Amino acid sequence: MSKHYDLIAIGGGSGGLSVAERAARYQKRCAVVEVGELGGTCVNVGCVPKKVMWYGAEIAHCLEMAGDYGFSIEHNGFDWGKLVKKREDYISGINSWYHSYLADSEIDEIRGYARFVDAHTLEVGDETYSADHIVIATGGRPVTPDVPGADLGIDSDGFFALQQRPGRVAVVGAGYIAVEVAGVLNALGSEVSLYLRKQQFLRPFDAMLGEGLMEQMIEDGISIFPNTLVGSIEKDDGKITLVCDKGSRTPGIDQVIWAIGRTPNSDDLNLEAAGLATDKHGFVQTDALQNTPVEGIYAVGDITGREQLTPVAIAAARRLADRLFNNQPERRLDYENIPSVIFSHPPIGTVGLTETEARELHGDAVKIYQTRFTSMQYAFTKRRVHTAMKLVTVGAKEKVIGCHILGPGADEMLQGFAVAIRMGACKQDLDDTVAIHPTSAEELVTMR
Ligand SMILES: Cc1cc2nc3c(=O)[nH]c(=O)nc-3n(C[C@H](O)[C@H](O)[C@H](O)COP(=O)(O)OP(=O)(O)OC[C@H]3O[C@@H](n4cnc5c(N)ncnc54)[C@H](O)[C@@H]3O)c2cc1C
Repeated sequence: MSKHYDLIAIGGGSGGLSVAERAARYQKRCAVVEVGELGGTCVNVGCVPKKVMWYGAEIAHCLEMAGDYGFSIEHNGFDWGKLVKKREDYISGINSWYHSYLADSEIDEIRGYARFVDAHTLEVGDETYSADHIVIATGGRPVTPDVPGADLGIDSDGFFALQQRPGRVAVVGAGYIAVEVAGVLNALGSEVSLYLRKQQFLRPFDAMLGEGLMEQMIEDGISIFPNTLVGSIEKDDGKITLVCDKGSRTPGIDQVIWAIGRTPNSDDLNLEAAGLATDKHGFVQTDALQNTPVEGIYAVGDITGREQLTPVAIAAARRLADRLFNNQPERRLDYENIPSVIFSHPPIGTVGLTETEARELHGDAVKIYQTRFTSMQYAFTKRRVHTAMKLVTVGAKEKVIGCHILGPGADEMLQGFAVAIRMGACKQDLDDTVAIHPTSAEELVTMR
C-alpha cells in the first residue's frame, strides 16, 4: 500500500524544499522526492558554486591593482583545483545540512525519480506514494545545440566539474550564465572568447547594461565575436577547432562551454497520467496562485518558466504553503519588480522596466536619469572599471519604475533600492534621501 502525505514536492531544490518546509511548519505530513543532490541547481550547479568562483575572480582583480595601492606582492600563480575542492567541500556541507534539516522537520526524503501514476499518486522506483497536494518543482537543465561535435563541449554543469583551469576557452551564449562564466575564466587566467549569435548580449536587460559590460569585458581582454553562429566543433590531438557558420575555423581551443539556455525537466514526469500538459517549451503553466489546471497539482520555480531565480522559487513555494495550509486564500507571489543581479566583473543589478519597455508602455511620460563614471576605487589604477546607472521614471511625479546599475558594488547596492521601488518611490524621494559619501550608491540619490 502506498504511503499517503498531505503534500509531496517533486524536486529537492529551492522550490521543493521551501514548500515542504513551510507546510511542515503547519504540522502537515510532507515528503520531498529528489533524484540528485538536495539543494538542486542553486546549491550544486548554480548560484552557490558560481558565487564562489566569482569571489575567486574578484580576488584576482584585486591582486591586479594591489601594486597601484602601494603593495609589493609576488603572485605565485593560482591553484584552480584547490579552489574547486574548497568549494565542493562547502557545498557538501550544505547538502548534509539539508538532510538533517529535513529529518529534524519530519519531512520524508524519498530518493529517486518521480513519475505521475495519477493526479494524486507518484511512483518512485518500485514504490508508490500518494498525496492530497503535489507540487512540481523539478527545475531545468542546460541545453546544447544540435550541431556536429556538440558533445565535445561542456555546459554550465560541466564548467563546475572542471578540475583544472582550461587554457583557451570558447564560451558560446549571450545570457547571464555565458557572461558570468566568461568573466570568471578571464579573471582566473584563461584566454577567453565569447561567441554571440546576435550583436549584443544580455538582450532582455536594459541596453546600457549589456553595452557597458561588453566594453569592460573587451578592455579586460575577452575577445567577443558578435553575429557568429557556431556550426560545428571538431577535436584533434586533444585540441578543439571551432567552425563557424561563415566558414571560419578557430583551432587550438582547450574547452568549449555551451551557455545557450536551459530546458525544463518535464519530459519524463508522465504528466499525461495526471491529466496535465506542458506548453510548447515544456514549462508547466500555472495561474497566479501556482495552481496547474489539475486540482491538487501545483508548480513552482524554474519549471513554470517565470523569472528563473532561486528567491523567486522560494517565495512562490512558501506563499503556496501559506495559502494551502494557513488560511491565507489570496497569498501569492507578486512577479513584478523582481530584482536580480548578474555576477559579471563588475556586477550588474537591475529591477523594474528597461528604458525600452517603459517607452513602449508610457511613451513620452518616461523620463530617464543616467550617469556614467569611474568610481574612486579605480581613480588611479591601471585597470579602470566603469560604473553606469540609470533610473527610469514615469509621469509628473516621476515614479521610479526601473533602476539599472553596472559597477562595483551593484550586487549589494540594489536590494534597498528594490524595496523603495516596490513601495512606489518617486525621484523626489530619492533626492530627499541624504547621500552616503563617498560611495557609488550616492549617485543614485543625486542624479540630475
Ligand atoms: C549556472 C547558474 C547560475 C545561477 N545563478 C543564480 C543566481 O546567482 N541567483 C539566482 O537567484 N538564481 C541563479 N540561478 C538559477 C537558480 O539556480 C534556479 O532559479 C533555481 O535553482 C530554481 O529552483 P527550482 O526549485 O525551481 O529548481 P532546481 O533548483 O533546479 O531543483 C529541481 C530539482 O528537482 C530534481 N528533479 C527533477 N526532476 C525530478 C524527478 N522527476 N524526480 C525527482 N527529482 C527531480 C532535480 O534533480 C533538482 O534537484 C542559476 C542557475 C544556473 C544554472
